[in-house]
Amino acid sequence: MTFGRDQLAVGVGSLPWDKFLARTPLPEHARLQVAQIETGALDYLPGLSSDAKKQRLSRISYGAFLTDIVQADPSVMAYYQRRTHAEQGIGIDALSALDCWALEMPGFKGMRLSRGSIAHMGYTPAGYADTGGSVHLHFPDGNATIARLLVRDLVPRAVPGRSAEDVITAKVDYAELDRAGAPVRVRLNSIATRVRHLGEPSLAQEIEVTYVQGGAAFSARARGCVLAGYNAMIPYLVPELPQAQQEALHSLVKSPLVYTSVALRNWRAFHELGIHTVHAPGGYYSDFRLNPHVNLGGYRSPDSPDQPILVQMLRTPCKPGLPEVEQSRAGRAELLATSFETFEFNTRDELARCLKDGGFNAANDITAITVNRWPHGYAPEYNPLFDAELPEALQPHVIARAPFGRIVIANSDSGRAAYTDAAIDQAHRAVAELLGSRAQETRRKSASAAS
Ligand SMILES: Cc1cc2nc3c(=O)[nH]c(=O)nc-3n(C[C@H](O)[C@H](O)[C@H](O)COP(=O)(O)OP(=O)(O)OC[C@H]3O[C@@H](n4cnc5c(N)ncnc54)[C@H](O)[C@@H]3O)c2cc1C
Repeated sequence: MTFGRDQLAVGVGSLPWDKFLARTPLPEHARLQVAQIETGALDYLPGLSSDAKKQRLSRISYGAFLTDIVQADPSVMAYYQRRTHAEQGIGIDALSALDCWALEMPGFKGMRLSRGSIAHMGYTPAGYADTGGSVHLHFPDGNATIARLLVRDLVPRAVPGRSAEDVITAKVDYAELDRAGAPVRVRLNSIATRVRHLGEPSLAQEIEVTYVQGGAAFSARARGCVLAGYNAMIPYLVPELPQAQQEALHSLVKSPLVYTSVALRNWRAFHELGIHTVHAPGGYYSDFRLNPHVNLGGYRSPDSPDQPILVQMLRTPCKPGLPEVEQSRAGRAELLATSFETFEFNTRDELARCLKDGGFNAANDITAITVNRWPHGYAPEYNPLFDAELPEALQPHVIARAPFGRIVIANSDSGRAAYTDAAIDQAHRAVAELLGSRAQETRRKSASAAS
């Protein structure tokens, strides 16, 4: 047990810090330190310019910032260790203090850091530093809305409606997705297993994709192909890729995560306790929350605590103390080796222990549990603590995404950035590469026809 006993401390953000901290099991001196970190205006690196501070903070972890510079108690470190799990998939031992400043972790109020990113920052924190932070927009079905909106643009007859509001409740006509003669066809449940050029890659006019559907292998031919799955799998699909590119593709290790959804008969316990979100520094899941209350188009979130609701729980199986890549690999091994029963036990146990004073009864209140394991979750971002600082052309994601004949690569890994914005930018780049090589080819053909 991280702090010696179970304690649900309610009131972060609504109570003054000293009152909230008095409800926690932290020792008195640690409470004073947390209050100081959260509200104080100390400059922990006096005498340095903003730029010099940023350089220094980019080279130490936020954990080291707390222990070595702020001189915080180990229990303070434990209190903050997993605060970054949800957004970055890893704890404060493996994230730079500067990235954590941009992610709005506390302790920087008095340090007068000027706005804006520097070179030694991950993509997402750098973006926050430049634009002033994140804006959270939650679709009731999570990111599935984005996929549904994309499919509607590609195959309008498959998804009725015209707005982001009405797509939530739109009923997809699956028969329209893969209709013969349609300009765009989406084939579900088809795993690509091999992509190869028909001929020498630099000269071939076509590629062939082999895919497996219902246990049988099929193939399709095309003038070009965008590989949009994650990087580490691509060398298995295209073993002809140059060795250096294969190594670069393998070097970008995504961080694993688990989202567990729990269906509750009602959320009276949350209501009784006056909470909707819990951060559990020592829990099996680091965070859980009631599904955010969103009313969009025809979709209505439950208003009454007597109505059924979903709880979303997050576990990031990283292993503090190791380099980020090793933490991700070890976490992936954990996901592979963990049975559903273990997840189920910990789900029931954590909810029961946190919510018991609200009258929660796991046996009665839980009606279903779904565990979604993401062995390859967030794309890895540049991490100044572990990654070499290299010129653009030598960076692994740039080597990894090089076009290969008529095959181009698009995914968030190629942007070395975890979130959907990067995936969209990279898709745009990859398609432009295909169109560019097509245009080049047309020019070549018309030039040789003219001569
Ligand atoms: C749990 C979780 C929560 C997230 N939350 C957010 C968030 O709130 N906001 C945000 O911006 N981003 C979020 N992200 C990140 C976001 O999901 C990714 O940035 C984005 O989906 C990456 O897009 P992509 O095109 O690279 O890959 P993906 O979206 O993973 O798409 C790849 C597709 O390729 C398919 N595929 C893979 N291999 C094959 C094969 N061999 N044959 C056929 N098909 C194949 C896969 O099934 C998949 O559909 C989250 C990620 C995770 C894991």
